[in-house]
Amino acid sequence: MSGEGNSNTETKLISCGRHGEAREPAFVCEHLLHGTGRGFCFDRADDDPHPDAWCKACERLRIDNGGDWTEALTKQVNIQPVCDSCYQEIKERNIALIQ
Ligand SMILES: [Zn+2]
Ligand SMILES: [Zn+2]
Repeated sequence: MSGEGNSNTETKLISCGRHGEAREPAFVCEHLLHGTGRGFCFDRADDDPHPDAWCKACERLRIDNGGDWTEALTKQVNIQPVCDSCYQEIKERNIALIQ
């Protein structure tokens, strides 16, 4: 068997334990996934309706490391895929930063 099995043109699906199968998943840092009031940062230039998101602490880490999300950095903050329903919940829970 050979071939890359490249499926870039297909819509990505994610299977969520709470919401079932969902389209257009996004990635968030593990702090947002489990936390509340962590701050909600994302790339505003990204026109995706569910841009990948990360918390204030990760934003600081990103800037300290030169401003780019390298592979090592995304591993370090344990970026996790979430379904679009989870994404909405995570956003509402974290967007108001608790001081
Ligand atoms: Zn984070
Ligand atoms: Zn979900």
